[in-house]
Amino acid sequence: MNAKISEIKNNISEKKITVFGAGISGLGASYLANYLNAEVFLSDIKYIDESITKDLDQNNIKYEFEQHSNKCLDSDLVIVSPGINIKKNIIFKKINNNNIPIISEIEFASWFTNYPIIAITGSNGKSTVVKLLYEIFLKKYPNTLLGGNIGKSFSENILNEIKNNKKDIIHILEISSFQLENIYTFNPKVACIINITCDHLDRYKNIEDYFNTKLNITRNFKQGSYIVYDDKNKKLHEYYKNFKNSFGLSSLNETKYILSKNTNLAGEHNIDNIRACIIIAKIFDIEKNDLKKALTDFKSLEHRLENFKKINGITFINDSKGTNVYSTKAAINSFDNNIILILGGSKGIIEEELLDIINTNSIRYIICYGEVGDDLYLSLKKIKPIMFFKLFQDAILESIKMATKGDIILLSPAFKSYDQFKNFEQRGKAFKKIVNKYYA
Ligand code: ADP
Repeated sequence: MNAKISEIKNNISEKKITVFGAGISGLGASYLANYLNAEVFLSDIKYIDESITKDLDQNNIKYEFEQHSNKCLDSDLVIVSPGINIKKNIIFKKINNNNIPIISEIEFASWFTNYPIIAITGSNGKSTVVKLLYEIFLKKYPNTLLGGNIGKSFSENILNEIKNNKKDIIHILEISSFQLENIYTFNPKVACIINITCDHLDRYKNIEDYFNTKLNITRNFKQGSYIVYDDKNKKLHEYYKNFKNSFGLSSLNETKYILSKNTNLAGEHNIDNIRACIIIAKIFDIEKNDLKKALTDFKSLEHRLENFKKINGITFINDSKGTNVYSTKAAINSFDNNIILILGGSKGIIEEELLDIINTNSIRYIICYGEVGDDLYLSLKKIKPIMFFKLFQDAILESIKMATKGDIILLSPAFKSYDQFKNFEQRGKAFKKIVNKYYA
């Protein structure tokens, strides 16, 4: 396979490429491939908005929507967007039968740069780490580019690099497990796995399968590459301890920045996030003062333990991005007492772990809501005082009514938001709006 991939890579301008998915990654890959003179065909099972097709037309990129027709088979290479599960769609069976290589958008983009890549993956904390790293790197490396699973595709950054002949770039990438599927040559200079916990079991057969996909990040590890990883995770430690240039997060003795509390990043879990950033900064010889300044200036991100209001002695924390048990655990552990916890959202499995997590004195009351809310109510009522509301808004209003001075209203739902919202951002914004309106 690798010989075939090399041939395609070296003769990209003569190739026909089908790109699956017209989201941020798929569009990025299409425009990059088009710029490299490949013949691009973009296919999406959903409707593609006119604002997008107008640009595609202007760039002479062919496309189809609301189907994956057999036209997709007329290609030398297939690039898949991370949202598409190639095990689930019949068209990919046909593509395999036709021996057409299938690669991820990250793999594709990585072919066209020789600058160092820092790739961050993990179940929780990726966005926090990449954004903090980006701030840390900017002073010494002003041409640092941030991309991947964070609003701007890697392909778009590569296009920017080659089109504008940019020099001295460092690519920082947030990488989800989906983006690590269909990797062949992708080889970051620094790979970082902040943590691995159970997630996305709707896409993977089991936790092993998910774990092994994450390990793809070092699949092409070479001399001169570095791995920074969570060495508290026994399986990860076993796997990486003998790698050359491997750094466990707990190996960092220089914790004075972390302990100095000179940072706005609350919570124990952020210590690991900061450690990952410090280790990577050291690999790139970042000055201590630049590091310290970035750590001091960094504000926590929206929807991640975002402390957005304090009124009448009640503190409001928006952790809408807390969409699994482990992120909610991290959120609960960040406060000592008087938590009113808002849990709920889309239907999902209520893991045993959740029962352990909420069994702590720091939680005074639980308000659950949404599709999963009644199951939550039944599972948790023996452990904590709890109420259930179908609607998100009603749950929030009740939490405000019952709160007294010193309470912390924590929205860290542990479930996805899709039952009542488009995404976690919309849920977090709704939370803030309801609270602000109440006190207006
Ligand atoms: P990701 O990009 O991996 O989803 P984010 O930085 O957006 O990560 O954080 C997602 C959620 O996980 C937030 O609720 C955040 O507070 C929590 N979180 C951040 N870092 C960690 C960590 N190291 N361990 C556990 N939870 C974390």
